[in-house]
Parts: sequence; structure tokens; C-alpha cells
Amino acid sequence: MADPKGFLKYERELPKTRKPEERVKDYKEIYKDFSSKKTVHQAARCMDCGVPFCHNGCPLGNVIPEFNDAVYQEDWKLAFEILSSTNNFPEFTGRICPAPCEQACVLGINQPPVAIEHIEKTIAEVAFEKGYIRPQPPRIRSGKKVAVVGSGPAGLAAAAQLNKAGHTVTVFERNDKIGGLLRYGIPDFKLEKWVIERRVALMEAEGIRFRTNADVGNNIEPAELMEAYDALVLCGGATIPRDLPVPGRALDGVHFAMEFLEQNNRRVAQEMIPLSDLIHASDKNVLVIGGGDTGADCVGTSNRHKAHSVTQIELLSKPPSERDSFNWPNWPMILRTSSSHEEGCDRQWAILTKEFVGDEKGMLKAVKIVDIEWAKDKKTGRFSFQEISDTEREIPCELALLAIGFVHPQLEGMLEKLGIEVDERGNVKDDAYQTNLDKVFVAGDMRRGQSLVVWAIAEGREAARKVDEYLMDSSMLEARDMGMLELG
Ligand SMILES: Cc1cc2nc3c(=O)[nH]c(=O)nc-3n(C[C@H](O)[C@H](O)[C@H](O)COP(=O)(O)OP(=O)(O)OC[C@H]3O[C@@H](n4cnc5c(N)ncnc54)[C@H](O)[C@@H]3O)c2cc1C
Ligand code: SF4
Repeated sequence: MADPKGFLKYERELPKTRKPEERVKDYKEIYKDFSSKKTVHQAARCMDCGVPFCHNGCPLGNVIPEFNDAVYQEDWKLAFEILSSTNNFPEFTGRICPAPCEQACVLGINQPPVAIEHIEKTIAEVAFEKGYIRPQPPRIRSGKKVAVVGSGPAGLAAAAQLNKAGHTVTVFERNDKIGGLLRYGIPDFKLEKWVIERRVALMEAEGIRFRTNADVGNNIEPAELMEAYDALVLCGGATIPRDLPVPGRALDGVHFAMEFLEQNNRRVAQEMIPLSDLIHASDKNVLVIGGGDTGADCVGTSNRHKAHSVTQIELLSKPPSERDSFNWPNWPMILRTSSSHEEGCDRQWAILTKEFVGDEKGMLKAVKIVDIEWAKDKKTGRFSFQEISDTEREIPCELALLAIGFVHPQLEGMLEKLGIEVDERGNVKDDAYQTNLDKVFVAGDMRRGQSLVVWAIAEGREAARKVDEYLMDSSMLEARDMGMLELG
């Protein structure tokens, strides 16, 4: 166990962030340095609980008390070995995971929880710095070939695990760069892209082949992959955004969040965007529709563009700021203020968008909104809303960004050509990661719908184990009991 009195001696402490007015001038990560000694103190707060709820809360089943103890002993190599036994990419989750483990931490019942996510990031970065992370190609190859379609966290985790098992893996990615939403969704101020490149270089050195601009179902026939490979793992994500079909949707200035975020990540990566395609918030009144994390990313990006004003609206009512103590160890539905909100944003709840209003040239100039009231139906228990009379109003807006989620994976192309069955929500139907087709498996958002990076990694690992069992009749790859708490 780490220090038995650690949680009494040390307060939860995280690295300080750069000042909002300073950090909006660039796209670099917002955190300042934090000494590893301080991280050791944070690990000392872990109580090594008899029933470590943190471990249950983590979709990957990270062995948290053990790596906390190793950090406390300053045995960073051991800490990394423990962490990497369940998580292929702690450098990603240590930066951008909403950390369901921390919400499940026992200390969180009456104190701030252990800073697990920060400890994880530090272990990963110390391991890179000290050279504990090196390419580890498999000693023996199985002679089996696996195609992974999609290079987001699910595809990367599946590829890493299958390669470790000795199979020859090729990752097909339709984009020009590897990473999925890590690369083109999540902004650089949350995840700088060198972090992905460092990992991809390692995976290449371990023998994994990456083929970019390879759109399966478009410029690559799925039938060719079925012919050439012993198994396929589909990790194409849930890429179809939810639309808002109200009057004026077609006006110039109304965009899906991902159109805006992807283009911005490309600009940050020094790619040239034709002026006619540019979606820029500079000097505009920006309205972000949708109160979730994608919306928050639009807020942070708009502030970096020097928008005139940024407003974020949400259909649901404002959540409570404090957690209900009965809710522990589940994921609490509380008000979350991200670093992007701290940089400046007017947040409003219980608002319905009625119409996009344009000028005579077809350019967006305002959005008509109305306040709503939510009520629970006594008979059905379902919530529904009603508009509040006399609250309809227009707010000036020249750029509206739709950040209201994703409906399902793209069906046309690869899925339709292969004849993959989908469920009632449009996600790929599976039985323990196997689709309706022999030798075709699925993982990540394409299977479970829009979720989290940590879930994508967990699913990629599990699917890889199923593929390994399918190819070899048994598997040495680590298993995770996925029947535990489903958080996030
Ligand atoms: C803006 C935004 C911010 C987010 N921020 C966070 C966050 O901070 N923390 C967090 O935990 N989660 C976050 N998420 C969610 C998280 O990014 C996703 O849950 C996760 O990336 C899903 O991983 P995946 O591998 O299943 O799919 P994706 O990351 O979507 O990757 C799928 C890949 O497959 C490729 N592809 C699709 N079809 C084909 C085809 N036919 N041929 C070849 N390639 C194909 C796509 O181009 C893409 O690269 C965010 C999501 C968005 C949209
Ligand atoms: S629940 Fe919290 S205190 Fe307990 S073992 Fe996990 S991290 Fe440590």
C-alpha cells in the first residue's frame, strides 16, 4: 500500500493551467509542468481499498491501486508495466479521458478523489522519457493476416493487440493521417498531435502497416479484403452527425461541429484550406448548439479564432453542480465546466432552436430560440418539454455549430457492400464482437455508438482477443470482464 496516511497528509492537487487569456492565443496543451515528486504525493493519497471501485469504474480495468503504489515507491518502470498491461495508450487517456475511475474512487465519497488520470499521464510520459517504451515486435509470426479498418483508438488498440499476438496487421484509413477522432475531432489544446505520431511510429516499428487514403467500400473493395485477409476488424466509428432540420438549416453559416473542428485541426497542422471553404469564427457571434464535450471543443476553438461572442445552448435543463451522495460510484450527471468554458462562453440551458434566420444573400444573421420547461409524465415516467410562452427571441449569430451528437456509423459503402447487419439504432450488430459474417469483427463507436476513447481502446482490445481465438482456437491476450459497471 502507498502511504497509509497519505490521504490525510496531502490534498488533491493537479497541474496548474495557463491563464485563459494567454492560452487562447495558441493551440498548445493548457497545463503547466508539475514535479514528479508532487505526483508521488498524489499517488500516496490512494488507500489501496479492499474493493477498489476505481478499477471497476475504468472500462479498461486499469489496475489502479497497484500502479499508485509503484508510483509512491518511485518505481516508474513497474508502474508502467502495470498500467500498460491493461491500456495500450495511457498517453491518450491520461490527457483526455473524463476519468470514470475518479468518479468511482472510494476517497470521493467524502473527499476529492485520487488524481488517477494525472498519475496515468505522468507514468506514460516518464516511461517515454526513460526509454521504457520501446518497439516490441512479436518474436514469432502466426502466418495469419488481419485487416483493421479505421485508425481511431479502437482500430489502433485492435491492431496493437493482434500484432502482439503475432498476426500480420494492416490498418486501412480513409483519411490522409492516422488517428480517427483523436486526430481530426479532438482539438490540439486537449491533445497535441505529436502524441499520436509518437505512438504510430512505435507501432510501425513493431511491424504494423498503415495504409492511408484507403477508403474501404470506395477506393478499396471490401470483397478484396475478404479474399486477402484471414480476419477483418471494422473500427470505422460513428461518423454520421445528428442534424437539426429546422427552417433555415441550409443557410450559409450553419455547420456540423465536426466540419468546423476537423478543418481547424488541419489548419493547426499547417494544411492549406481554400478560402472559399474556410469556416472561421473570427469577429462572429457564434452559437454552439449542444451542451456536451464536442460543443465545448467548438467553444474553445471559437475563442482561439477571436470570435466576437460565444454562446452555447442546451435542450436539457441545467444539471446540479453537486453530486448526489447516493449516486456514488456511478457516473454523476452534474454541471461540468471545461477549460474551454473558463476561456469565455455564455451557457444557457432548456433552450429549443426554432429557426435559422438569414439575410437576403442567404447568410445566417440570427437564430430564433425559445425557453422550454421539462416535466415528467406521471403515467409513463417519461420526460417531455413545453415551450414557455412569450420567450421566443432572436439572438444575433453569423456562425451556428451543430454539436448534438452522432446517430450511427456510415452505412453506405463498406457496411452495405459487405452485407453487415445493424441494430435498431443503426450500429453494427454483433455477438461478442463478431458481426453476422464469418471472420468479420467490429469494435468501438461503430459497435456501441458515440462513446469515449477509453471505451474504444477497451473494445479494440476485446475484439482483438476474439479474433485471436477465432484464428488460433485460444488466446494469450489479456481479457477484461466487460460485464462490470458500464460508465460513460
Ligand atoms: C469533437 C469530439 C471530441 C471528443 N473528445 C473526447 C474526449 O475528450 N475524450 C474522450 O474520451 N472521447 C472524446 N470523444 C469521443 C471519442 O473521440 C470517440 O468515442 C472515439 O474516437 C471512438 O473511436 P473509434 O476508433 O471507434 O472511432 P473514430 O475515432 O471515429 O475512428 C474511426 C476511423 O475510421 C475511419 N473510417 C471510417 N470508415 C472507413 C472506411 N470505410 N475505410 C477506411 N477508414 C474508415 C475514419 O476515417 C476514422 O479515422 C470526442 C468526440 C468528438 C467528435
Ligand atoms: S478507489 Fe481510490 S483510494 Fe481506493 S484503491 Fe482506487 S484510487 Fe485508491
